[in-house]
Amino acid sequence: MSGRLEGLEPSKVFHFFEEICSIPHGSYHVDEISGYLEDFAIKRKLRYVRDKENNVIIYRDASKGYEDRPVTILQGHMDMVAVNDDPEIDMDVTPVDVCHDDEYIYARGSSLGGDDGIAVAYMLAILDDDSIQAPAIEAVFTTNEEVGMDGAIALDPGLLRGKRLINLDSEEEGIFIAGCAGGIKMRAGMELELSELAAVENESCIKVSVSGLLGGHSGEMIIKNRANAIKICGRLSYDICGRFDVRFVDIKGGTKSNAIADKAEFEILVNGGDISVLKSVIAEVEHEIKNEYRQKDDDIKIIVEESNLGERAVFSGSSLKKLASFIMAMPDGVQAMCGWTEGLPLTSLNVGIIERKGNMVYTYHELRSQMGSSLRALKKSVTTVADAFGAVCENSSEYPEWEYRESSPLRDEMCRVYREMYSAEPKIEVIHAGLECGILAQKIDGFDAVSIGPDILDIHTTKEKLSIKSTERVWKYLLKVLSA
Ligand SMILES: [Zn+2]
Repeated sequence: MSGRLEGLEPSKVFHFFEEICSIPHGSYHVDEISGYLEDFAIKRKLRYVRDKENNVIIYRDASKGYEDRPVTILQGHMDMVAVNDDPEIDMDVTPVDVCHDDEYIYARGSSLGGDDGIAVAYMLAILDDDSIQAPAIEAVFTTNEEVGMDGAIALDPGLLRGKRLINLDSEEEGIFIAGCAGGIKMRAGMELELSELAAVENESCIKVSVSGLLGGHSGEMIIKNRANAIKICGRLSYDICGRFDVRFVDIKGGTKSNAIADKAEFEILVNGGDISVLKSVIAEVEHEIKNEYRQKDDDIKIIVEESNLGERAVFSGSSLKKLASFIMAMPDGVQAMCGWTEGLPLTSLNVGIIERKGNMVYTYHELRSQMGSSLRALKKSVTTVADAFGAVCENSSEYPEWEYRESSPLRDEMCRVYREMYSAEPKIEVIHAGLECGILAQKIDGFDAVSIGPDILDIHTTKEKLSIKSTERVWKYLLKVLSA
């Protein structure tokens, strides 16, 4: 496989992109790509560092006449979300089957890794060409961004002189990202009380399932106020506990803390004689919920059916009452909006998973904020609510925000070059999701950054595609910025 992208412009960028595609580089499998970057530097006698997280930094001296300009850091991540259609294919050892049509580059049967391979290709093309006019460059290739930003977290800031950073991990041309949210993943655990009795005669096991919700990424989509299936289960079980004598069997829902739960279900034991009334109570709540989410989440389905208790343990009705109250009381969704940017949440949280393990129920929450102080306050709220119901909270991971700065000489400069090239204004955006810039902002004093990139559609899916024309425009723009 070579020469698939030959003839496309910018040729050097696509040459390196194709080389990267030939090396499997899904998250956690970055040894080989990191070694490739190291070899690249050795062959060209460029100074470099490869650290124990496999991050690579390659240094390029200033061009003649650019010695006095501020050092510029270029940055992107070398790992990709490797997904494919065919479960037989092992992406850890299989190269990306890259191809193109008139408009786009894509991969047959898998994700492409344009996120963030295009950043790697841009940086290599710059490092490879001495004729490109630029200040001193520190090209930073980080690892495992897609699975918790481990590389950026471990990066030693002592290896960098620059304070100006162009991050190349954005997917929409013409949008300059100038700030991102910080976040905390939290887990709350509540103990259930076992019920002495097994199922008694006359008791039936009932399963209530909530499905058909839109869900979505809890950073990007939280602003839409969509329904959360776990919250709906909390509300249904709260109403049931208030009306019937029930016992508790099981609950589960959601798949990721950073995804709005699109389905969830719980099981209870209820007196056989109560089933038809219980069904009508649930139908009533379903009607209310559908009405509340009208035109936001139109396919919510709540199904009540008999299930089989089998040999499973049974928990007390008061355990369910406590759990339902906890879910009801726990804040969820957008908590505050920013005053300085229209339409941007300041602080939000999402319950993404609920699961029972033995006699414990765990809920997983993703908290986000554009400001550290507001994030810390929200964390206190979550802990306080959990405490009130005897649940114990733990943090699993935490990443800092990149706070929007009013004053940014780099951004001003990049806007000026953009205006000159396109006679248009770029759109400055702050996002309610995490970026490596947040971590780097904490490490580098006087951090001044902008995140850009060419158009990439459907990242993290097998439909991912990279616009050829946009790649070329962003390349020319980047060169203009460096030589400005
Ligand atoms: Zn990325």
